[in-house]
Amino acid sequence: MTTTPKVTVVGAGLAGSECAYQLAKRGIDVRLLEQKPVRRSPAHQSNEPAELVCSNSMRSDNPESAIGMLHRELRELGSLILGSADAHRVPAGDALAVDRDGFSAEVKRRLLSTGRVTLVAEEVTTLPEGMVVVATGPLTSEALTQALQPYLGEKLYFYDAIAPIVSADSVDMTIAFRQSRYGKGGGDDYVNLPLNKEEYVAFVEAVRNGAKVTPHAFEEPKYFEGCLPVEVMAERGEQVLAFGPMKPVGLTDPRTGRRPHAVVQLRQENRDGTAYNLVGFQTRLSWPEQKRIFAMIPGLQNAEWLRLGQIHRNTFLDSPRLLSADGSLRAEPRLFFAGQMTGVEGYVESSASGFWVALSVVARIFGKPFVPPPAETAMGALYRHVTGEVHVEGAPYQPTNVTFGLFPALPERMKKANKRAAYATRAQSAFASWKQSFEGRDFVPATGDVASPVMGANQ
Ligand SMILES: Cc1cc2nc3c(=O)[nH]c(=O)nc-3n(C[C@H](O)[C@H](O)[C@H](O)COP(=O)(O)OP(=O)(O)OC[C@H]3O[C@@H](n4cnc5c(N)ncnc54)[C@H](O)[C@@H]3O)c2cc1C
Repeated sequence: MTTTPKVTVVGAGLAGSECAYQLAKRGIDVRLLEQKPVRRSPAHQSNEPAELVCSNSMRSDNPESAIGMLHRELRELGSLILGSADAHRVPAGDALAVDRDGFSAEVKRRLLSTGRVTLVAEEVTTLPEGMVVVATGPLTSEALTQALQPYLGEKLYFYDAIAPIVSADSVDMTIAFRQSRYGKGGGDDYVNLPLNKEEYVAFVEAVRNGAKVTPHAFEEPKYFEGCLPVEVMAERGEQVLAFGPMKPVGLTDPRTGRRPHAVVQLRQENRDGTAYNLVGFQTRLSWPEQKRIFAMIPGLQNAEWLRLGQIHRNTFLDSPRLLSADGSLRAEPRLFFAGQMTGVEGYVESSASGFWVALSVVARIFGKPFVPPPAETAMGALYRHVTGEVHVEGAPYQPTNVTFGLFPALPERMKKANKRAAYATRAQSAFASWKQSFEGRDFVPATGDVASPVMGANQ
């Protein structure tokens, strides 16, 4: 006799809904526990699943943008979220924008149409028995956060503070110089952008006057002293940045033979060395202002930004250190995590995470290896961010959208416009072979009869 495996998914947001649907499609019964309408985060308003808490846009649908590539892959995989979005698309240029109520209603309808998903309105305050996927998002309720704390300890964070990331080949190396402070650690690990006194003063002034993103009412700014936004430091005094992240001590500009008045340091962001982050430059300056003001930094006048800085309330875990490659908690392998909590950022990225975690749970249940998406695909690039494979070892973990900085370097240098096409073409071919191998695997049961589960699933 075969028994239908059961999995509990906590949180019917973007990731939890996608995950539950993909599990159900593969013959697994799912209890999908959602706190609404019993309790709501400060940002959630509707009672429906997959609520878009802010913009109704899933960003660019251009297949030569990193996010557009992710759209395409999710569509090809039969994603619940992309399918529902396409069904409720509204005109928005090249962006995929949706009628949010129609979209959420569609997600619910499709979930229930599987016949395997039971939606339960319940705030989860203690972790359920059996195999569980936690997908409670950036505003996970307080009670569940406390229940998770013993498993996650110090490695559960509540704010992200993201510094901008720039494409390495857009930095003007006729101005920048490679050097480590006092020549420590090999001598040239950092790329330094020198500012003279006038340039520095003008820069501080621009940061002070630049437009900032206003925090949400529930995002009371509580900054760590060691991780202050640049604009907060600029406000504290003209020379504060020059004694903080822009300090020039231990550095000599080889072109002048002198110590600059201030420096901006760039640190390698990915193992391929195609991207750098601006060290200590977490900021709430608006994105257009970041582009304008950071272009004042000598060497960044033609910067190609792969990601801009931001700071917001965000419950997320140090995934590379806490999770196994299959998305389960190393310390408690029956618990999986999906969505924004794992350090992906955005509606579509969270859905993608929900998707691959479903594949991983299915693989576990049926005793087959989990084959993650290849690094060259948008999904695979994002997956490798979560596992920490993309980043320089030991670097602090911060959430991210999907960006080209997460992809393996292209074999040769090329212009920005050509690079995008090259990333997209490479991704499509890697994705096609992955999908083929994965579709050919027989652990995905037909609807109805289910092979014997191997381990872990509640029965
Ligand atoms: C204020 C704000 C604005 C944002 N704006 C955008 C934007 O414009 N564009 C964009 O792409 N991304 C935006 N994001 C990020 C976006 O919300 C997330 O990327 C995405 O929703 C994350 O998906 P998720 O499934 O991980 O979490 P969510 O979509 O948040 O889903 C989590 C679900 O879990 C439920 N839940 C929480 N705790 C419990 C519990 N204890 N028991 C049961 N259920 C629980 C919640 O009610 C929610 O339904 C924003 C985030 C915030 C906070």
